[in-house]
Amino acid sequence: MDKPTKPIPTTSTTIVGTELTNIKDVLTLNNLSGKGKYTQLCERWLEQFMKNGNGRALVLSSCTSALEIAAILADIQPGDEVIVPSYTYVTTVNAFALRGAVPIFVDLADATMTIDATLIEAAITPKTRAIIPVHYGGVACDMDHIMQIARKHQLFVCEDAAMACRSTYKGQMLGTIGNVGCISFQEKKNFTAGGQGGALLINDPGLVERAEVLYDHGTNRTRFMRGEVDRYQWLDLGLNATLSELQAAFLYAQLQAADDINGRRMHIWNRYYSGLFPLAHEGYITLPFVPRDTTHNANVFYIRVRDGQRQALIQHMANANVQTHPQFMPLHLSPYGQTHGRFSGVDRVTSLASAQILLLPVHLSLSDEEQEVVIRELFAFWDQTIQTSL
Ligand SMILES: *Cc1c(COP(=O)(O)O)cnc(C)c1O
Repeated sequence: MDKPTKPIPTTSTTIVGTELTNIKDVLTLNNLSGKGKYTQLCERWLEQFMKNGNGRALVLSSCTSALEIAAILADIQPGDEVIVPSYTYVTTVNAFALRGAVPIFVDLADATMTIDATLIEAAITPKTRAIIPVHYGGVACDMDHIMQIARKHQLFVCEDAAMACRSTYKGQMLGTIGNVGCISFQEKKNFTAGGQGGALLINDPGLVERAEVLYDHGTNRTRFMRGEVDRYQWLDLGLNATLSELQAAFLYAQLQAADDINGRRMHIWNRYYSGLFPLAHEGYITLPFVPRDTTHNANVFYIRVRDGQRQALIQHMANANVQTHPQFMPLHLSPYGQTHGRFSGVDRVTSLASAQILLLPVHLSLSDEEQEVVIRELFAFWDQTIQTSL
C-alpha cells in the first residue's frame, strides 16, 4: 500500500453492528434511566468472570464513578495517603484526592510500565490507607506481591483495571483480585457503552451493600427495587452513577462480541510484535513485555524509543499519514501533582519511560494493509527495510 490518502488514526470508535438492535429493544421497555434489563445483562456477563460467588459487578456511568465509590468504600479521610503510580490517567488519583487523600507516587517497573511492587513497602507510612495498582495497557501488575503487602499492612486495594477488561493474572480476571476493581467502557477501551461507561467489581462481599447505596444517591433504592424494603431513604453519601439503559444496551452488544473484538486486537498486537522485532533486536526500540501467567487484551500497542527521538518519529509518521500518540504525562510532574502529592524514593523509570513511549494505531478499522504501512514507516525512520515477511 502506498502512502495512505487519509490519516490512519491511533484509535477509532468500536462499532460491532448489533448495537442498534438492542437500542431499539430498549425503546419498547419504558425504562431508560438505568438498572433495567441491559444493565442487568451486562452485570451478569461481568460476574461470570468474577468466579468468587458473593462478589458483585455494578455497571456505572464511568470508571471514574467506580473509582469515586471505591474511595468512599476505602473510608478515605482528609490527609490519608494512597499509593499510586504517577504514570496513569488523572482520574485514578482525582477520585481519591476528592476525599482528601494525598497521592504517594511510586515508581514503575521498567519492563511493564506498571507500579514496581518491590518499592511499595518503602512508601508506606502510618497514614497509608490504600494501594491503587493500574494495569497499564491491559497488562497485569504483580498482584500476588501487592496483595501480600496489603494484607500485612491492612491496606485497601482498588485495582484500576480501566484498560484491562478481560485481561487475566494467574487465571483471574483483572479487577477481581483487590477489594474492588474499576473497569472503563469509555470510547478508547476495548468495549464501550456508547462513549462513556464503567463498572465497579466488588470482590469483598462485605462491601456490596454499601456500594449499592453509594452509587444510587446514597439511598437504598436498589433494595427497594428488589422488594426488600417498603420505601427507600437517604442513608449515606452518594453519587448518581447509574448508566443509562440506552448505553447499557449499546455495551451489551459489544460484550457479546467481546471474543471477536479482542481477537482482532490481539491479531494486530501480535503482528506489531513480530513485525517490529528486528528493530528491537537492533536496539532502536523496546517492545512491550507481558509477564508469565498473565494474559492481556491488546488495549494498546506501544513501543519505547531512545531518549529524544520521539518527537522526530511522531513527525516522520505524521508525514506518512500515520498518527501516533504519546500517552500519559507523569502526574507527579503536573502542577496539581507537584503541590498535592509526593514521589516516594527516586524517579528512575517513570519520567524517562513516559517520555519514550509511543502508541501505535490499534483499532478495529485498521486493515492489515494499513498496519503494514505503519510498520514499514517505522523501519524507514531508522533507515531499515523490513526483513521479515509479515
Ligand atoms: C480510561 C481510564 C480511566 C477512566 O475511565 P473513565 O471511564 O473515562 O472514567 C481511568 N484509569 C485509566 C488507567 C484509564 O485508562
